[in-house]
Amino acid sequence: MKLYEQYPVSLTNSLSGKKEKFETLAPGFVGMYVCGPTVYNYVHLGNARTFLSFDIISRYLRSLGYKVRYVRNITDVGHLESDADEGEDKIGKKARLEQLEPMEIVKRYTEDFHTVMRHFNILPPSIEPSATGHIVEQINITKKLIELGLAYEVNGSVYFDVKKYNQSNHYGILSGRNIEDLMESGRDLDSQDEKREKIDFALWKKASPQHIMQWPSPWGEGFPGWHIECTVMSTKYLGETFDIHGGGMDLKFPHHECEIAQATGANGKSPVRYWIHSNMLTVNGQKMSKSLGNSFLPSELFSGSHPLLTRGYSPMTVRFFMLQSHYSSTLDFSNEALNAAEKGFKKLNNALTLIKSLEHPRKTSTINSEFEKNLPGQIDKCFQNMSDDFNTAKTLAVLFEMASQINIWTSQKESLAQVNEETFENYKSTYISMMEEVLGLKEEANHNNDLLDGAVNVLIGLRKKARTDKNFALSDKIRDDLKGIGIQLKDGKDGEMSYEIEK
Ligand SMILES: [Zn+2]
Repeated sequence: MKLYEQYPVSLTNSLSGKKEKFETLAPGFVGMYVCGPTVYNYVHLGNARTFLSFDIISRYLRSLGYKVRYVRNITDVGHLESDADEGEDKIGKKARLEQLEPMEIVKRYTEDFHTVMRHFNILPPSIEPSATGHIVEQINITKKLIELGLAYEVNGSVYFDVKKYNQSNHYGILSGRNIEDLMESGRDLDSQDEKREKIDFALWKKASPQHIMQWPSPWGEGFPGWHIECTVMSTKYLGETFDIHGGGMDLKFPHHECEIAQATGANGKSPVRYWIHSNMLTVNGQKMSKSLGNSFLPSELFSGSHPLLTRGYSPMTVRFFMLQSHYSSTLDFSNEALNAAEKGFKKLNNALTLIKSLEHPRKTSTINSEFEKNLPGQIDKCFQNMSDDFNTAKTLAVLFEMASQINIWTSQKESLAQVNEETFENYKSTYISMMEEVLGLKEEANHNNDLLDGAVNVLIGLRKKARTDKNFALSDKIRDDLKGIGIQLKDGKDGEMSYEIEK
């Protein structure tokens, strides 16, 4: 029996708003697409949470024995500043402002994105396609939609005809809207005269001569609309219908709604069986936003260099913090919550280190029937919680119970002999794999342990003394030698000195 049969997954499908039993199109195989970043800026923490949520989902499905093809794109063209097909291309604008080529912008921020993903131990997807690498496919589907009467060309731009589509389909099926309300509430914009209706959206946009990124097409020089890239890249690699499509809650409308319309219009079938949306991050109860000054870059969080932070936190502490809430709930960020998360992670991390070196004595004394009853139950609960809509919060609660048990075995070695060897081995491998493979909580060396603190403080004291004695050669040597082994001394206010482990 496969693990996915033993612990069948159920998940909340945004399409129905209900928790549904997860049934894959092909047995044992999962196709999953997640909208990736638009690479025109540094990744902020809210983005990281979205990608973490889907990292957990793909990790868990794999651990159950599914073969997962996970596609996450890079948007490197076509994402305009406004959802109403207005404004400049985000990447083109940044390139203009920084006097760089768009591909230089794309390269810089794609690298930053990958670095952040690595810090958080978010695994790379199976395929990471880019919009500019799929211009031909985007032109082809646009042609097809025109042939089917679902799109029309005006002055070198092509728009999707939402009203026409809605005659035989439901535009708004995902976000629970209806076309009449949408047509009512649409804003009047200057260039809307090009569109037949306000709610129509661009599949292809004519490029002005000064527009940096443009390609030849049957409608002249232009560039693709944002929504069409995801339709093309998801169906190309996963088929016309695939299992899971994910993204942040803010993408539900219009982006995902438009994806459904384009794919259903072109292929005559709904593209996605299960839609999953992750919720946002708030800071001290407020929405995280650049204009409020409360949006963090991950690097600021690790170093503690943001005014709202009292100190820095390790990537695994932050990862643990995010896993404490369900992906579909908002998560509030504060120094207090991070401090608590640090303690929590430390406990699980210590137990991870301990259990790795714990060995069963091979001989059993009297078997403790309580153990035989409770331990397999905890293993089951880990899987059951994860299979219940990927509930990381409840899974962590079980891991805390397991950590307490591991601590008991460590301090009272003889109690290990009261457990069946097989039960123990199962327990050990479940704890390790839940921590490392499923939740991706890497064992973190305890940088701030008392011994290291003590030793570095002795050296800091010697360095201070050297400076008072004007022995700058020695004080520099202490600083440089520590830096040589990855410990950086930092001069703080009031002549106080602290240290940081370089990552
Ligand atoms: Zn997308």
